[in-house]
Amino acid sequence: MVTLKSPREIEIMRASGKITSRVLAGLMKAARPGMTTGELDKLAERGIRDAGGIPTFKGYNGFAGSICASVNDEVVHGIPGTRLLCDGDLLSIDIGTTLDGYVSDSAVTIPIGNVSQTAQRLLDVTRECLTLGIAQMKRGKRVGDIGAAVQAHAEAHGFGVVRELVGHGVGRAMHEEPQVPNYGEAGTGLELRAGLVLAIEPMITQGGPKVRILEDGWTVVTADGKLAAHFEHTIAVTEDGPQILTLRDYAEDPELERYRQPKEALA
Ligand code: MG
Ligand code: MG
Repeated sequence: MVTLKSPREIEIMRASGKITSRVLAGLMKAARPGMTTGELDKLAERGIRDAGGIPTFKGYNGFAGSICASVNDEVVHGIPGTRLLCDGDLLSIDIGTTLDGYVSDSAVTIPIGNVSQTAQRLLDVTRECLTLGIAQMKRGKRVGDIGAAVQAHAEAHGFGVVRELVGHGVGRAMHEEPQVPNYGEAGTGLELRAGLVLAIEPMITQGGPKVRILEDGWTVVTADGKLAAHFEHTIAVTEDGPQILTLRDYAEDPELERYRQPKEALA
């Protein structure tokens, strides 16, 4: 069942999204070579709880962390722990906050130190895929328009689009209907209406689109061992177009400027 959110509910989700985006911005600035993913996880949990939220991921189907930390060929759902970040790594951080019963969900991939040109291009294209997907989130458009926009951009750059994992509705639960694939046919699927809140999350690979799950039962890696990137925002469809509820505040955080994508100022 697809639930539309009232303006009041969207305001709560915006407050939840504010915590998610601020804590994520802090993690983006903190992450550096020599740090473990477990240290980032501790920072995340403290940040969310200090702001009055609950880390949505912690305990979700038994997940151990407050963030997912996925490195290089890990696409999503990496378990934070003793892994040391190294110069040249690509780190994907996924984070969720529950505030007053409402979830916000966001992810970024960042370079640790100096990364290869290929890695940087994968990261840039994946971020652009998210922006292009969000731009489709207007009343009267359809879920298939989002996936088609993401897929076209990724494949035009020779990258793969993961099929097994998709974006989703978000609200009282982290995963609500509808599913939002990162591929598809324009003009098909559920029609977008004001009050629909979606987590759009392109997962794009340097090589083929196939993935597999490691023995830990969580970590999703590329089947060919090549790099992956993942960006996600929680976005509301409104009468005035898409509003990114997890938008990072670059004015508040000048150090974030190096991660900025100009078109992200859609909201
Ligand atoms: Mg997420
Ligand atoms: Mg999500």
